[in-house]
Amino acid sequence: MPASILVVEDEPAIQELVSYACGESGYEVRRADSAGAAQAAIGDRLPDLVILDWMLPDRAGIDLLRGLRADARTRELPVIMLTAKGAEGDRVAGLDAGADDYVVKPFSPRELMSRVRAVIRRRAPDKGDEPIVCGGLAIDPARHAVTFDGRPVQLGLAEFKLLRFLAAQPERVFTRRQLLDSVWGDHVFIEERTVDVHVLRLRKALAAAGAQHLVQTVRGLGYRLARAAGAAAG
Ligand code: CA
Repeated sequence: MPASILVVEDEPAIQELVSYACGESGYEVRRADSAGAAQAAIGDRLPDLVILDWMLPDRAGIDLLRGLRADARTRELPVIMLTAKGAEGDRVAGLDAGADDYVVKPFSPRELMSRVRAVIRRRAPDKGDEPIVCGGLAIDPARHAVTFDGRPVQLGLAEFKLLRFLAAQPERVFTRRQLLDSVWGDHVFIEERTVDVHVLRLRKALAAAGAQHLVQTVRGLGYRLARAAGAAAG
């Protein structure tokens, strides 16, 4: 389940360089060479992060960014602006428009990828490869392994993604719709009650390790993961 990155860049050499660096770092890469192509790609499937060039042939990257921030579906989409403009004014304009970070050309692929990792860690903690530890719960995405107080928890793929998403922001309540969008991807037409089925399976698997209390129902709202390791009402 690598994070997916959309690379929006019209200069073929730079698009290739950035895409290659992202692929080498283990990300799933899609490419667009114009603002229009980027919008189509985002409309098709929401990426986890966008690397966005400032100067595009059809529209300024910053205009595309403003459009993304004005739309509820893409408001939270992490964006790193890429540009040859090093002027302080552009930097400020980019960040004001809602960019998460800003990289000036020429840049080293290593520097770009460290910015990418930092933004994904900050904005999409459930998409990184870093282990998540929460109370007695330990999730290792790279090994697809979960333990509770050292006891292994056997999970199917959907339950694993659900647990990882909840554990990335413990105590926060998520609606069924938010869980569907985040875990199964938006544009997926699954009934919200499907989430309940997977939560039941997740609880059953956790119960085998003595952690059935971790995933809590918040009546009328949705679900959350309890941070505390102690027993609590499910
Ligand atoms: Ca360009």
